Amino acid sequence: MDHAARIASQRIAAADRLTRLEQQLVELRALRRGEQDDDEHDPDGVPLSEEWSRLEGLRERAVRTLAELDRAAEAAARGEVPTCIRCGAPIPSGRLEARPQALTCVACAV
Ligand SMILES: [Zn+2]
Repeated sequence: MDHAARIASQRIAAADRLTRLEQQLVELRALRRGEQDDDEHDPDGVPLSEEWSRLEGLRERAVRTLAELDRAAEAAARGEVPTCIRCGAPIPSGRLEARPQALTCVACAV
């Protein structure tokens, strides 16, 4: 699989993840609405607000990943070789295989 194809396949996976997370957030919102009419809480259950923050965090990450993949796809379409935004070194192919939208080399990754 070449770099552009890898970006495309990861983009599909990220978009899929985002769709599922948005669906879960919709379901959670419905649950929360129900909970306001109900004074009984499950003492062992994860508080809905905690679950909400967790899902919202994952959703934001998925949105960011999609944007990064779009940028990587544009750069690949222009024929640019992915280079580290910090040190300018080419990003090793092993790193791009795991993370085609990577902006930094392994050494510069935070
Ligand atoms: Zn670097």
